[in-house]
Amino acid sequence: MSNDCIFCKIANGEIPSEKIFEDDRVVAFKDINPAAPVHLLIIPKLHISTMNDIDESHNELLGHIMHTCKILAEKMGVHESGFRTIVNCNSDAGQEVFHLHVHLLGGKPLGKMG
Ligand code: AMP
Ligand code: ZN
Repeated sequence: MSNDCIFCKIANGEIPSEKIFEDDRVVAFKDINPAAPVHLLIIPKLHISTMNDIDESHNELLGHIMHTCKILAEKMGVHESGFRTIVNCNSDAGQEVFHLHVHLLGGKPLGKMG
């Protein structure tokens, strides 16, 4: 838990969110400013600031996050039409919240990257 981290506060319920899924290690909730009809954020409960801060000790957790994305894509009904997962890191990627999160986007054609 990082004191000033908005996603830690969402994970522990201090700040409300539209939670779609939660277990002992991860939380998934709707992005407040959706870029697609389906736009979820999947986060670890553990505070990790950016992709630069991951190491081998996180491998199992990161695998669990990706597996959760797969389950949620199915739950949201976009697994067959398709979906995109994105992790932004630092300023060139436009990272705004410094608690690792995977965007799960779908529900419309998302176009080419870039
Ligand atoms: P990023 O640019 O990858 O750091 O993305 C941060 C995302 O968090 C943006 O898409 C925001 O719309 C979203 N966001 C920020 N605050 C909240 C919040 N309180 N609840 C849900 N989503 C949020
Ligand atoms: Zn945090």
